[in-house]
Amino acid sequence: MWRTAVAVEAWLGGNTMTMIGHRNQKLVAYPIRALPDGRVLGNFIFELGQSGDGPPREEWNRRIDKAKFAHAFADWKFDWLDVPALIEAADSIFEFPKVDRDPVERWSFGRVTLLGDAAHPMHPVGSQAGSQAVVDGRVLAKHLADHPDRPEFALQEYEAERLPPMRDICLSNRNLSHEIIMDLVQERAPNGFSDIDDVIPAAEIAQRAEAFRTRAGFDVTSLNARESHSRHRGCPVHRA
Ligand SMILES: Cc1cc2nc3c(=O)[nH]c(=O)nc-3n(C[C@H](O)[C@H](O)[C@H](O)COP(=O)(O)OP(=O)(O)OC[C@H]3O[C@@H](n4cnc5c(N)ncnc54)[C@H](O)[C@@H]3O)c2cc1C
Repeated sequence: MWRTAVAVEAWLGGNTMTMIGHRNQKLVAYPIRALPDGRVLGNFIFELGQSGDGPPREEWNRRIDKAKFAHAFADWKFDWLDVPALIEAADSIFEFPKVDRDPVERWSFGRVTLLGDAAHPMHPVGSQAGSQAVVDGRVLAKHLADHPDRPEFALQEYEAERLPPMRDICLSNRNLSHEIIMDLVQERAPNGFSDIDDVIPAAEIAQRAEAFRTRAGFDVTSLNARESHSRHRGCPVHRA
């Protein structure tokens, strides 16, 4: 993966997260902030599937020459986003190997536990790893508050609640989770399409997106309806 931030004309309304491509070639683009000149500072992540010649997995955030990947995106010119032009405009581009680790069996050891990336490093699918670290913190705080005199038990309870869903998410991320929609479109219409409804029904997209939201705990209705107090026993996070 190669990442950069570039000032560009706002695309698709200025607040749109965009994913283009499929498993082996992808661009993820989202606006970071509006700029005074009317443009936006966009975050751009380019991905190419490679075999064997990626950087070592502990090597990340290295500045690289854009020539390493720019050629693959040379014809990605859309009327709403000119990808070769934005690569050309990028000052600095950083390289990230796309790696994860097998889920572990245990997070809590006595009065010590794991949280966030230390507990569940995952493939970056769904832009969610940071959010999941926040949820870990919330659930951990809840169990510590529920069992102030039994911290070791609280850490076991936290692990019992969070480890199984995070194990499932890490494993399903390896198969792209909801981003599999992009692979399906590529498979069904390798030469392109003019109407997405001809390729994949809107109901199938909605169903896959909803399954992801439910699995990841991002269902908007549930989140908005939830009590925020960490000790509220009925909260969906606690029930998840
Ligand atoms: C390029 C990139 C883009 C991302 N985009 C998104 C996104 O869009 N949405 C999303 O939800 N997530 C995203 N993530 C994932 C998200 O950033 C991580 O999941 C999140 O930061 C994990 O939080 P953490 O607290 O577990 O670990 P970290 O944020 O890694 O924090 C660990 C901290 O511990 C410190 N540390 C390490 N060793 C020691 C030591 N021995 N002593 C003291 N301190 C130490 C480190 O310096 C670091 O500050 C992205 C990650 C990357 C790399």
